[in-house]
Amino acid sequence: MAVTADVVVAGGGVIGTAIAWQAAQAGLDVVLADPARDDAASLVAAGMLAPVSEALFGEGALLRVNLLALSRFGSFAAELEAATGHRVGVRREGTLAVAYDPDDYAALMRLTAFRRSAGLNAEELDSRACRKLEAFLAPDVHGGVLFPSDWSVDNRRYAAALREAAAAAGVRFIRGRVTEVRTGAGRVRGVALAEGDDVGSARVVVAAGCWSGSIAGLPAELRTVVRPVKGQLLRLRHPQDMPPVLAHTVRATVRGADVYLVPRADGEVVVGATQEERGPDRTVTAGAVHDLLRDAMSVLPVTSELILAETCAGLRPGTPDNGPVVGEVGPSGPDGLLLATGHYRNGILMSPVTADAIVARLTGQPPAPEWEPFGPGRFGAGGAS
Ligand SMILES: Cc1cc2nc3c(=O)[nH]c(=O)nc-3n(C[C@H](O)[C@H](O)[C@H](O)COP(=O)(O)OP(=O)(O)OC[C@H]3O[C@@H](n4cnc5c(N)ncnc54)[C@H](O)[C@@H]3O)c2cc1C
Repeated sequence: MAVTADVVVAGGGVIGTAIAWQAAQAGLDVVLADPARDDAASLVAAGMLAPVSEALFGEGALLRVNLLALSRFGSFAAELEAATGHRVGVRREGTLAVAYDPDDYAALMRLTAFRRSAGLNAEELDSRACRKLEAFLAPDVHGGVLFPSDWSVDNRRYAAALREAAAAAGVRFIRGRVTEVRTGAGRVRGVALAEGDDVGSARVVVAAGCWSGSIAGLPAELRTVVRPVKGQLLRLRHPQDMPPVLAHTVRATVRGADVYLVPRADGEVVVGATQEERGPDRTVTAGAVHDLLRDAMSVLPVTSELILAETCAGLRPGTPDNGPVVGEVGPSGPDGLLLATGHYRNGILMSPVTADAIVARLTGQPPAPEWEPFGPGRFGAGGAS
């Protein structure tokens, strides 16, 4: 066993890389193993940091961890920018949710009442006020709600900066797919790589997104907990000299489907996203591109003048209760095995606080109480949360 470390992190999306960086900052010797297949959901995501406009009925615990995540994101991004000298494109304008008919508006108002009852900030706007905020909205907008505390980040810049910061902090990157967590006498001994080598370590963090369950050595009940949920998404660009057409993230329901448009500081507009249960399929379909463009144009007709720069598809790591799986595996698994996966629609948002929670455990500190409902133990693994 040539390579050894204090901790091996399996997976180099934003979750694994944020953990690796923060663990190295805490003084641990870290190896991060990733096959570098460019299939990470982290590179596809829209980058919304939107606990408020993502808050849904019945997801109170998730809302609490998402709010914790947003409250941490600013200082984490500032630390990252200081460490690398790169801007990661955090925007703080908020989310404008709009409705185009009375039924959609009534549904938006029901959600808004629920979000307000949870203490969240929401400003109701009539059609004129919506268009005052976003001049290019289709004129028949019925009304909307501004959720001013939502943010966004350029997830690709953010992921690249994380990698650079982690390398500068001493994280060793190994190009390789982890096939198995090696164990002996009830505790972790390291990992095996598909490429043939082992890495020795007393602690392993599995952060392989929707592929986390493919790694042998996890308790059986945890190997099927995370599933891929396909999302197709478009990246548009302004033609040269065209001023920005959007300031806020805009969300709407069009013909029963949700669509969002996320502006970036560099002129990109991200349009997303489908939600599909199609296993590991990452193909981009003509129908999805058509539907996303049609829906985006019906919300913001000027979208038709933007350049279609990229179409892409990624796999969100979904779980049965839509919550992440973060913490030690506990009694049914070996000592030293931790999971940081299942972040579904909010992994970019949750990456800083996930790193905090895992590094707290690696250094013998208690994680924030908001994590308590999200341990591996809730799936029958019997672990501490
Ligand atoms: C269309 C779409 C839009 C989204 N929008 C948002 C958004 O607006 N805001 C938000 O917060 N989140 C969003 N998400 C969700 C977010 O992208 C994910 O929750 C997050 O990226 C998960 O990060 P991760 O590091 O766990 O997984 P990933 O980014 O998928 O990374 C996993 C990594 O593990 C590697 N790997 C796989 N198998 C192994 C193995 N055996 N050994 C080692 N490495 C392995 C993979 O190659 C990959 O590099 C979106 C997702 C999609 C698809």
